[in-house]
Amino acid sequence: MQPLQLLDASVRAQFPLFTSTASAMPLIYLDSAASTQQPTAVIAAVSDYHRQSHANIHRGVYQLSQTATRLYEEARLTVARFLNAADPAECIFTRGATESINLVAACWGAANLHAGDEIILSTLEHHSNIVPWQLIAQKTGAQIRVIPINDAGELELEAYRQLLSPRTRLVAVNQVSNALGTINPVREIIAAAHAVGAVVLIDGAQWVAHGVTDVQALDADFYVFSGHKLYGPTGIGVLYGKRHLLDAMPPYQGGGDMIEQVTFERTTYAPLPSKYEAGTPNISGAVGLATAIKWVEALGLAQISAHEQALLQHATARLSAIFGLEIKGTAAQKSGVVSWVVVDPPLSTLDIGVELDLRGICIRTGHHCCQPLMERLGIAATARASFGVYNNLDDIDRLADALTEIIAAARAKQSAQLEKGGWEDLKLTTAASPAAAAAEIAEVFEFLPDWPQRHQYVIDLGDKLPPMPAALKTAATAVHGCQSTVHIAARLAPGSTDMIEFLADSDANLVRGLIALLQQLYSGQSAAAILAFDAEAFFASIGLDQHLSMSRRNGLAAMVQRVRQLAQRVVIS
Ligand code: PMP
Repeated sequence: MQPLQLLDASVRAQFPLFTSTASAMPLIYLDSAASTQQPTAVIAAVSDYHRQSHANIHRGVYQLSQTATRLYEEARLTVARFLNAADPAECIFTRGATESINLVAACWGAANLHAGDEIILSTLEHHSNIVPWQLIAQKTGAQIRVIPINDAGELELEAYRQLLSPRTRLVAVNQVSNALGTINPVREIIAAAHAVGAVVLIDGAQWVAHGVTDVQALDADFYVFSGHKLYGPTGIGVLYGKRHLLDAMPPYQGGGDMIEQVTFERTTYAPLPSKYEAGTPNISGAVGLATAIKWVEALGLAQISAHEQALLQHATARLSAIFGLEIKGTAAQKSGVVSWVVVDPPLSTLDIGVELDLRGICIRTGHHCCQPLMERLGIAATARASFGVYNNLDDIDRLADALTEIIAAARAKQSAQLEKGGWEDLKLTTAASPAAAAAEIAEVFEFLPDWPQRHQYVIDLGDKLPPMPAALKTAATAVHGCQSTVHIAARLAPGSTDMIEFLADSDANLVRGLIALLQQLYSGQSAAAILAFDAEAFFASIGLDQHLSMSRRNGLAAMVQRVRQLAQRVVIS
């Protein structure tokens, strides 16, 4: 085991978010793989640019415009040095990794892919390195092949070599997996692809903030990353491409700055990099990104890497000691990412995320935009903690202690729960209408002062929900659009011609609570009354939507939709 080499606390002190006294609870931020926080240096550089130097670039003859142009182009030089690009013109500013990949797929793909050609991706890819290739494959008739992984979450290199053939035109893989943290041997992957004449795109979104990048040493043909995972602003990123490839590709978007000459008959394009930067770019974003790069370099990528490895080592040891918790992704080479599921007792990642949030701990839950990877692992989602320069061992201990507590509470609850359920246990509402039930719920919410107490109320409601018999949990009752598993079975109440009752269940406690709220609103009401009630407006009016993530709001909307569809069917029949 390596000795722990941690960065000094003065690094964390440079992040205003962690020194703010606005919140009563100290913030433990463990979601840097989604987005890193920004140090004062970056915030100040963006702010100074807006205060002192802003004008449109490349056009104005006046001093201010020239200053802005200089800052923007200096940012490009910083990026080129950071990546060790041979020529700054090979570094195109984009909105981020996603836009960079879409650009290559659309432009390089349109010019180079034909029916029967093959594109190789890997099981570890983020959707942004899958969907753009599917789009261009559909247009060109190219085929997508996928590098498998082993159970540790490492690429199967032998299988990769076998996929390579003269038909392989492009290989697109990430350098680090955002979901599992696996560091991929990209130099080897590139060399093998080049041996069959294929071009390689490396998605460096999860690498650039964690180790030195040298596109020439890697011999990458395209390399992409985003500023907001590198302590920089959102809305700015980079596409590096070898000059001969970028020169030969058609432009991406048409507009100002990307042209040499325009007539109504014909347009000639500007040279690199302008050819791929149509319109006014994100100038302050580029300035912020360059500042972030210099800040990271001053700290030293070797020190950052040692710090994150120390956190990873500690987190892996603490989390793997928690009974019932399983770490997903155990590659020999990993960056500062730990993904896990809780299997005993089974606990949905949504509940884990919400419970940790109530303790001031920010982690990511869900499929991490890697649904094919989740499918390969045989799970719907993981909970993921990812580390940055500001994290320390105490953050990890707080996470591990909180998880121990959450799992112990779930275990105690599980053993107290009686096996009961089915239609017989369903208590129909006594409210006269959904609106009357809504008023009762609103009154309780009003009485509860804050989100932790309202959350607990919803969870308690969910605990009282009668479990749904396994026989009713079929594909027909499954609700799509929910990240957790949800089933809803509805029927006409026995002896009634228009009264709906429904049973529903989910693997997530919070969702069970939401189902209990829906039960209060709807179950035992007439189909016409259900259709007349605007549940979405109601949930917004009690502020519930503010505390639900977008996917959860969509899930709730999907459940409401399902009940309404069933009510509709009753009304029509
Ligand atoms: N690739 C990987 C590996 C990522 O983790 C992400 C962001 N989660 C992206 C691409 C897309 O980055 P962005 O959303 O900044 O375009």
